[in-house]
Amino acid sequence: MGYYRASEYYSSFFGEKVYRIALDAGCTCPNRDGTCGTGGCIFCSGSGSGEFAADRNLSVTEQLSDAKARVEAKCKSHKYIAYFQNFTNTYGDEDELRRKYMEAISDPEVVGLSIATRPDAISEKMYGILEEVSSRTKLWIELGLQTIHEESARWMNRGYELAVFEEAVRQLHDRKIDVIVHVILDLPVENREQMMETIDYCATLPIHGIKIANLNVLSGTRLYEEYKAHPWSLMEMDEYISFLGDVIEHLPKEMVIYRLTGDGDKTHLVAPLWVTDKRKVRNRIASLFAERDVQQGRQCRFS
Ligand code: SF4
Repeated sequence: MGYYRASEYYSSFFGEKVYRIALDAGCTCPNRDGTCGTGGCIFCSGSGSGEFAADRNLSVTEQLSDAKARVEAKCKSHKYIAYFQNFTNTYGDEDELRRKYMEAISDPEVVGLSIATRPDAISEKMYGILEEVSSRTKLWIELGLQTIHEESARWMNRGYELAVFEEAVRQLHDRKIDVIVHVILDLPVENREQMMETIDYCATLPIHGIKIANLNVLSGTRLYEEYKAHPWSLMEMDEYISFLGDVIEHLPKEMVIYRLTGDGDKTHLVAPLWVTDKRKVRNRIASLFAERDVQQGRQCRFS
């Protein structure tokens, strides 16, 4: 297929298939606890946008062993990436978080660590810890950007400005830490040109990868309240995949694509429902991309 899939990158980097295991570091979020905002991002569920994370009452080692038991049959290589996914995983007591990161990577089957966070929640001390972790294992920091447009960012209550994101990317890049950026398409407050501006901006960054999602409306979120009060039409599957084809072509060919659609909890998903049929979506992406001969990087102005 004409784009650089995470599975391809993992195989070339680790020499075989690896499996990501979602863990819970027990964090909260500065956009929820009042430090930079309350209520959180408009789309964020009570679980901090990590619907598949583990039980936070268990130790990291216990979470790892539970998760491994669940995925063992699928992961023949017994190589795992520990992924601190939900809420803001660099926010809290730095020493305690360092201990949790180290606990995760001390497992001999854990070959890398991915940490999802906000760019405004990485302290100087935390940058030092991340540098230390990255000297011991393969490390990725995942930053939720969603959009470059300040007005859209205000609508979604993101709680930081673009300059804050840029500074975090610079700090991480200076420390040779790989960054994966999260972007959301099909925002009701943006047109396609604006969404593509976000993609073009990402194409200029010194980042390793991108996770693209279409906006998922989950019950229990403020987005759902807005959707219920004034429903708008979300992109249909073919419409979205066709737009994705253009998006992929605008990204540099060496940028790893980790995700192409939203991955919201099925039990809370209100719209669009087509994303729940993962196999159908995967097949449709394959056939539409093949039909159009989509090639990552073809329309990228910054490769
Ligand atoms: S930064 Fe993440 S955890 Fe915090 S409110 Fe936004 S989506 Fe939720």
